[in-house]
Amino acid sequence: KKYVYLFSEGKASMRDLLGGKGANLAEMTNIGLPVPPGFTITTEACNAYYSNGENVPDGTWDQVWPALAEVEAATGKLFGDKKNPLLVSVRSGAKFSMPGMMDTVLNLGLNDDTVEALVVNTQNERFAWDCYRRFIQMFGDVVLEVEHYNFEQILETAKEKQGVHYDSELSAESLKWMVTEYKKKIERKTGKPFPMDPKVQLELAVLAVFRSWNNDRANVYRKINNIPHDIGTAVNVQSMVFGNMGSDSGTGVAFTRNPSTGEKALYGEYLMNAQGEDVVAGIRTPQPIATLAQENLEIYNQFVEISSRLESHYRDMQDIEFTIERGKLYMLQTRNGKRTASAAIRVAVELFHEGMISKEEAIMRIEPEQLDHLLHRRMDTGAKLQVLAKGLPASPGAASGKIVFSAEEAERLGEAGEKVILVRTETTPDDIRGILAAQGILTSRGGMTSHAAVVSRHMGKPAVCGCDALKIDYGQDLVVIEGVEYPAGSIFSIDGSSGRVIKGEVAMVDPELSENFKEYLDWADEIARLRVMANADTPTEATNARNFGAVGIGLTRTEHMFMDPERIPIVQEMILAQTLEEREVALAKLLPMQEGDFYGILKAMQGLSVTIRLLDPPLHEFLPHSEELIVEITKLKMTQNDPDTLHEKEALLRKVRALSELNPMLGHRGCRLGVSFPEITVMQARAIFQASARLVKEGYDIHPEVMIPLIMGKEEFLMMRKLVDDTAAEVMREQNVSLHYKVGTMIEVPRAALLADEVGKVADFFSFGTNDLTQMTMGLSRDDAQGKFLPAYLENKLMSTDPFVVLDRAGVGKLIDMAVKLGRGTNPNLGLGICGEHGGEPNSVEFCHMVGLDYVSCSPFRVPIARLAAAQAVV
Ligand code: PEP
Ligand code: MG
Repeated sequence: KKYVYLFSEGKASMRDLLGGKGANLAEMTNIGLPVPPGFTITTEACNAYYSNGENVPDGTWDQVWPALAEVEAATGKLFGDKKNPLLVSVRSGAKFSMPGMMDTVLNLGLNDDTVEALVVNTQNERFAWDCYRRFIQMFGDVVLEVEHYNFEQILETAKEKQGVHYDSELSAESLKWMVTEYKKKIERKTGKPFPMDPKVQLELAVLAVFRSWNNDRANVYRKINNIPHDIGTAVNVQSMVFGNMGSDSGTGVAFTRNPSTGEKALYGEYLMNAQGEDVVAGIRTPQPIATLAQENLEIYNQFVEISSRLESHYRDMQDIEFTIERGKLYMLQTRNGKRTASAAIRVAVELFHEGMISKEEAIMRIEPEQLDHLLHRRMDTGAKLQVLAKGLPASPGAASGKIVFSAEEAERLGEAGEKVILVRTETTPDDIRGILAAQGILTSRGGMTSHAAVVSRHMGKPAVCGCDALKIDYGQDLVVIEGVEYPAGSIFSIDGSSGRVIKGEVAMVDPELSENFKEYLDWADEIARLRVMANADTPTEATNARNFGAVGIGLTRTEHMFMDPERIPIVQEMILAQTLEEREVALAKLLPMQEGDFYGILKAMQGLSVTIRLLDPPLHEFLPHSEELIVEITKLKMTQNDPDTLHEKEALLRKVRALSELNPMLGHRGCRLGVSFPEITVMQARAIFQASARLVKEGYDIHPEVMIPLIMGKEEFLMMRKLVDDTAAEVMREQNVSLHYKVGTMIEVPRAALLADEVGKVADFFSFGTNDLTQMTMGLSRDDAQGKFLPAYLENKLMSTDPFVVLDRAGVGKLIDMAVKLGRGTNPNLGLGICGEHGGEPNSVEFCHMVGLDYVSCSPFRVPIARLAAAQAVV
């Protein structure tokens, strides 16, 4: 088996076998770039080493020595030679970059003899001995596992003895003394002398790199970055070049484009007479790469030429390491450069315009989730953070402000121009005022689809939910985190993208949408088949959604309109009504308000369809919490001076108790409200059609679609549809206009999916409500699972992802696929979409494409992500 490849034998596509670094060194060698000669020991050898009880596979060394001989021939140097010794670096290099996680040894091949040759050849005694002492230190630390501080102590003593401050000031004499001390230390610690034979050094170093694949930090890094544990690392053995051989030598790193902005200009820095670690150590300040033109124009031009060659060759922005040894340029590494999201877009767009990549390739260059960074304020990456706790990353973006524990307080301070973070155990419709006034929302309970999370995402407001560590004490107006009390008014910051809760204020960076960004997403639309709509409840959200490129509204949750603080009392009046007559009085007050809502949204979306869902949540959500009422009632009883309010509150509490359900998510909600109270359905339908009639008369082109929630079969749907159709006919007669509209249904109860053929016959469209469909198919509470037991499922690998975030293709997906086929089977014109939170998640969007939906609908701020994901599903 071939375990060793000379650089000239490999190529870029051999990353699995040669690792990323080895494959790129080979590729660069073969396109004729100046790469110091070397060879790669394969990842297969590493894997065999592990399956072999930590023994290198037979035949490896028999291949290493001839490869080394080739390197000797290419460089004209000999390993261990007393006149012209070859020195090599030994570096790890897995398929995926794992910066700094595994081990590296430089200057290997030095010993008491070869160091003397280096003195003669370089005419620089200090340089040679410095290389030698660095080598022993690195080898001792990495290969022989003698801890680093042992060498640091000797280094400090040497500097003290000589009376100098910096390593670079140490004399050759001091360095020689250090070498002796290093060797003594190693012999004492390991019981063996430092190996003088370069071949033994090489064997030991290769084994150490193999071992470092399995060290703690590498294991952790792989876990965090989802890199498989069984792919192993390759080992690259490469002849050394020195950037510290004098003023005509140097070393540097450069990107072919600016990694933060994407601007097309070489970006990087270098340091003359230095090695890589000097640049990192920060003792001397590196120069910007442009200065190299003054230092050595010829080398600079050569570097510019090579960079652009590398970029065209790899057809992507490169991150390049180079060294200049005595006026000769060497390329040590190149890889696709890491970049910010905005740079990624600019680079992709410009590479297309430069003719280097196709639109399809450009579309595949960016992870949809990366776009999220561009759409929200975020924390300055350089900021120092004191993280207090972690919750669910419920709504992206970051915010800082004073913590407050009630919506009223949030509103009061907000109006006074203060920045606040609203902290609640959970939020209810009652809190909407406070949510509007706050910079961000933090809750101790509730999952990714809890009220706080959904509302915040819609508004584009940061939120962290389900943060268990918070113990909120409303009575004392404080929150306790790990035993520490934080009173109202303390400054917190939250990061809704990571779920972190941070003490104090944090610097923020604002989002901006560039022309590149718009152009890029237009390409996505050209390629995509799925259309992207938005979930939006207000004209502002609708306009936002349009600006982000939504081609319609796939879900308007009308309950959010009922949460308006002005309306809550009327909504409560409707709920508390004892008789139909009383209820109709309240409904009559709500009608013009709802009509105004629909008028605004339909107008903002003229020319596009707007799907309006009838009232969905259980009614008690519009009433205060019983605990809060009890507190108020107790206070009123104590003061005894407001008996009317006391009676009112007591009546309210009775109603709250009467409406309370043990299992509200499976309780009196969705179309069941309309079955019990058809007058509510009629009021909403009337509001929709009256608004539509007005708009049609004003000349607007509108497309209202009425959606019935939570049906389990065609019977409920038919009852609701009749109420809607009859109301529409009435309004058309009254107003003397003709209206075009559709009536469809959500598919969010498994039974409705199972009977989709029957439902499809009578509905104009289906919209998969995958929040409830996931909840009911998997039997997982959407409000409790994420905070409580899902983490254990993920940890035990019972699930690979959270099914409320990434659609469960196997189960829920199977139901959707089936319902699509059944529905289309009986109604070929059936419209098909999704409006659960999954509609904005790339993996789920791909699934929606695969099963043949017409559109996905998601929060306005996720529309760009969904557009890109929809295009990627095609490519
Ligand atoms: C759903 O269940 O997926 C849905 C969109 O409805 P809601 O989240 O309002 O229950
Ligand atoms: Mg639902």
